[in-house]
Amino acid sequence: MKLLRIITLMSLPVIVSLAWAQPMMPEDILEQSAEAMGGLERIRNLDSLLMTGFSQTLGQDGGSAASPHPSAPGKWAAQNSVQRYFDLDELSAFQTHRQGFLYPFALAFGHAWLPSAQVQNGIQALNHPLTALKAALGNQSELGAVSIEDDNIVVEFTINSGTRLWLGINQVNKLPAWVRWSGPHNNLGEVTYTTWFTGYVPFEGIRLPSGFTTSIDWRDNVITEFHVDGYEFNVDLPVFESASRGFGAGEILDVDVTTVAEGVWDLRLVTEFQGVETNGTAIVEFEDHLLMFEAYGSEEDTFALIDTANTLVPGKEVTRVVMSHHHFDHSGGIRAAVSRGLTVISKRENENILREMTSRPAPNFPDALARNPQPLKFIPVDEHLVLEDDSRRVDVYEVIGHMHMTDAVFAYIPQERILMQGDMFVIEWDWHWWGDNYMDSIEYFDLDPAIDIPVHGRVATFAEVIDNINNQVTAAREFCAQNEAAGIYMAGCPVKYSRD
Ligand SMILES: [Zn+2]
Repeated sequence: MKLLRIITLMSLPVIVSLAWAQPMMPEDILEQSAEAMGGLERIRNLDSLLMTGFSQTLGQDGGSAASPHPSAPGKWAAQNSVQRYFDLDELSAFQTHRQGFLYPFALAFGHAWLPSAQVQNGIQALNHPLTALKAALGNQSELGAVSIEDDNIVVEFTINSGTRLWLGINQVNKLPAWVRWSGPHNNLGEVTYTTWFTGYVPFEGIRLPSGFTTSIDWRDNVITEFHVDGYEFNVDLPVFESASRGFGAGEILDVDVTTVAEGVWDLRLVTEFQGVETNGTAIVEFEDHLLMFEAYGSEEDTFALIDTANTLVPGKEVTRVVMSHHHFDHSGGIRAAVSRGLTVISKRENENILREMTSRPAPNFPDALARNPQPLKFIPVDEHLVLEDDSRRVDVYEVIGHMHMTDAVFAYIPQERILMQGDMFVIEWDWHWWGDNYMDSIEYFDLDPAIDIPVHGRVATFAEVIDNINNQVTAAREFCAQNEAAGIYMAGCPVKYSRD
């Protein structure tokens, strides 16, 4: 009977609220909200809007923290000098800003305050009350159910692309309180986003929010906080043209296969815009299966690598994957790997986040795992795990002293002296903030590597690795010194390194 009582208690307030709310026609609710913002006609006659301010965004939706723990401190980036233009006839937006990371990052672009310009179409432009209301009231939208959630009346609407949104409207002041939508996600299957509109201030008679906070339905993470410092109406719009590509590498053109030793291969993705990093995986042959190191990037990336690996030895397929650490780029193909029945090997502390990732449904944006749900098969690593049969031995070890990723593993083939790793060292990095970890890990486990197969970059000799780490540490120190001379105290400075 306990279950029944809970259901009754939960449904009671909704019934009461429904009885209270007077006009419950969605059009009426939206029009009342437009009146509360400054007048329906006034809003309809606005052609454009410029919103300026600054924001902070959470890296990888919270998937880039050092630890996979739900309460681990997040890695934030700052966007300053933000100009977000809205075309209120087309319901599109265009944002320019300069971005800097608020944590030490290994590639210089992360700290260069580089300009960015992004065109936002469709749903991306609708996380503002003016565009959301205009879209909901537009004659190409279809209005849906009305419901109550806490203090807000919620109007569901579908825009002409078929995308569904929900607009929450405060029952007391009738102003839009939030907008909600969902989208596909590499690591989490599908994610629901809610952008809250807070601190309404009148600008030339129209009430507009001074704050925007976007959270997701994974760990309730806040992923964006936007602070407005001003609005201008009916401005001249610039040409909406994207000018930055970010990390996206574009279409996969090919997979390069290199034999590193007998039964050990390096597979690299060849992509349309080979970016600052090239990504790949090591494949290791055992008697009856292949082992893969990392399911990097996305479903597409991981399937390209698995499918290529499965052609290397007749009759042998990839059945196991080592995940070096949980960061969402490094675990972007985990759902894909699990959908193919692969067993995941990683640090024990990653089990919870792996279960979170692989158990989420994706009903509206079904990926391979949603289409073919499989349970997570997980082999935990504490300090050391040996994978061995008559033909091969691979040791999986805990990474020592890496403050960028606290629950990480690397793998080592003792016979060929091959080390496989993700983010312990990358030859393309400009700066190394955690340069000790590579030698610390080798010395701690008494290893003698000759060859390094990384997730990012290319196969390198051990001598190249050590040379490059030294150069990258020196460059990071120079960066710190330049900033300090200018009175700027960067996160990560001074560089901690004890191997001079
Ligand atoms: Zn990485």
